[in-house]
Amino acid sequence: MAIDFTFPPEIDEIRFKVRAFISDVVKPLEEKARAGERRDLIGAIIEMRAAAKEAGLWLPHMPKEWGGMGLGHVAMAAVSAEAARSGFGPFALNAQAPDEGNMHTLLHWGTDKQKQTYLKPLCDGGQLVDGKPQAFRSCFAMTEPEVAGSDPTLIQTHAYQDGDEWVINGHKWFISGAAGANVAILIARTEEDPEVANAANSAFLVDIPSPGWEIVRDIETMSGSHNHCEIRITDLRVHNDQMLGGRGQGHLLGQYRLGPARLAHCMRWIGQAEVALEMMVDRSLNRYSHGSFLAEKQGIQWMIADSTMELYQCKLMVLHAASLIDKSGNDPSVVDFRGEVSMAKHFVANSLWRIIDRAIQVHGALGYSSDTPLGEMLKQARWSRFADGADEIHQMRIAERTIADWKDNHTVKNATGKLPL
Ligand SMILES: Cc1cc2nc3c(=O)[nH]c(=O)nc-3n(C[C@H](O)[C@H](O)[C@H](O)COP(=O)(O)OP(=O)(O)OC[C@H]3O[C@@H](n4cnc5c(N)ncnc54)[C@H](O)[C@@H]3O)c2cc1C
Repeated sequence: MAIDFTFPPEIDEIRFKVRAFISDVVKPLEEKARAGERRDLIGAIIEMRAAAKEAGLWLPHMPKEWGGMGLGHVAMAAVSAEAARSGFGPFALNAQAPDEGNMHTLLHWGTDKQKQTYLKPLCDGGQLVDGKPQAFRSCFAMTEPEVAGSDPTLIQTHAYQDGDEWVINGHKWFISGAAGANVAILIARTEEDPEVANAANSAFLVDIPSPGWEIVRDIETMSGSHNHCEIRITDLRVHNDQMLGGRGQGHLLGQYRLGPARLAHCMRWIGQAEVALEMMVDRSLNRYSHGSFLAEKQGIQWMIADSTMELYQCKLMVLHAASLIDKSGNDPSVVDFRGEVSMAKHFVANSLWRIIDRAIQVHGALGYSSDTPLGEMLKQARWSRFADGADEIHQMRIAERTIADWKDNHTVKNATGKLPL
């Protein structure tokens, strides 16, 4: 019997250290920065990052030889859930999307030279330019406005070879972090007639700025502008050496990146859902109506109970999927974790929405106001149901696995988490 959800003492120590760091260092700086101007925000992030390095909480997801803490995915689940209790937490630790996923991708697919040029400054959180420290950030450019982002075989951004260079033309959007990024991992079609549809695309490392890479706009979303940019790519030239992974491996690389990156999102969403549930309970204990506190009313208790059960399921699913990724060494051909990641991604994204929504309900008008963070949390939660795989795509893959399990093995046990039940 090896079912034990306790962490080894060294991971617990890190978890509690992150918790204290977020409440003692990050939250006060975050509050100060939110009340101030943009330069206060940047100053706050620099200060948090220096403090994280000092506290030994820098780069939890990367190996020690890259200056990280060398944590596996299960340990990362614990760290991320704590860090994401503050919107700035993951930034403070240099474990924010999309850099976190891009670092994993570069580590796995990059050549030595690519790693030195791009991974090293990403891990350091910056580089020296003319002797002055400058931030170093990345973005991942795959989605296009003209075709369904859910189906990367439709990608129209196109690269053709010209001597030892590639010439790229195309159009991308919703590229998170593109403004201010130093490098993009760009997915473009390189193969006209691939043997399998998924082998049409390749990945390129694009230095930013580069002639031909133009930020059209920072797209205004329902929660304002958050650096999700539209990009026009016109006769952009990149050297052969800038291809990341092999020709036609763009889809594989995207999947390699997205598996763990999806779960990393779930870990952060658990942190947010937990904050919402805490707020729901706290409000219900303090708001009095019709002869009793809200916490004493069955209708409110049902909301608290449903949210509690869902958050519990989220935690179990994420821990289990993370343990499978750890066991596999990040390779789904060793242990296939994709079904568990899909189920966790779908379930956590939807639970996050429901739990925040209930927290707003219990707060009444206050929940709808911007006097609490709940409204903003709800708007942020909305994208979790289609970014990194829309609900329906995950449901399609989950159903495919269940049907295949029945057809191949006359059981559904493999498809339902490969658990010994
Ligand atoms: C905040 C945010 C950040 C993002 N960051 C990035 C980024 O950094 N880099 C990047 O490349 N992209 C990014 N994206 C884009 C994101 O990955 C896409 O939105 C996602 O892949 C879905 O693609 P789409 O928007 O084109 O929707 P579509 O593919 O057009 O799908 C629309 C809807 O159609 C339905 N649907 C689609 N296909 C099927 C199907 N086969 N069966 C049933 N229903 C289906 C689903 O309901 C889906 O929600 C980001 C998006 C958001 C909102």
